[in-house]
Amino acid sequence: MKRHYILLAAIAIFSMVGACSNGGGAPAATTTATTTAAGTSRVRLYSVAQKGYIMSDKVIKSEAEWRRLLTPEQYHVTREQGTERAYTGITWNNHEKGIYRCICCGNDLYSSDTKYESGTGWPSFWEPVAPENVTLRPDNGLFTKRTEVVCSRCGAHLGHVFDDGPKPTGLRYCMNSAAMQFVKTP
Ligand SMILES: [Zn+2]
Repeated sequence: MKRHYILLAAIAIFSMVGACSNGGGAPAATTTATTTAAGTSRVRLYSVAQKGYIMSDKVIKSEAEWRRLLTPEQYHVTREQGTERAYTGITWNNHEKGIYRCICCGNDLYSSDTKYESGTGWPSFWEPVAPENVTLRPDNGLFTKRTEVVCSRCGAHLGHVFDDGPKPTGLRYCMNSAAMQFVKTP
């Protein structure tokens, strides 16, 4: 009889462990974060058009919504941390005067005033329009330690920042064309 209970307990523990490790629980965690943060969290951003800081709602959408709004390449780069092939994007060689905005939410990211020739085949800048408009986070891969740059308003992956850029900051914000929309300014 006693042995029977021990066996039942063992089966119960096994099934609990199985449930936790099954799928990692990632989709459930993502859904929870989306619903609790949606609509309520605000972020302070610099607006180029308004020449000053504004308070803006964060933009939070489901994977399905982003897929509907973006092209497959834009989706892959911004929502799946993809990287477009060098020299293939539409703005790596753009020299027009204007503002580069987030393709997902329209947040102002970079000015053409800080764009420079990095020779990498990706649009490169030495500074964002304001430090608040982009968020930096560690991106530690198996062999590389890099700093990821994401949009502060919608979390879109934009590219990476490196410390081999030109003066005055010495930084190279290496972006994907597919993550940005270029808007000409007079
Ligand atoms: Zn964005």
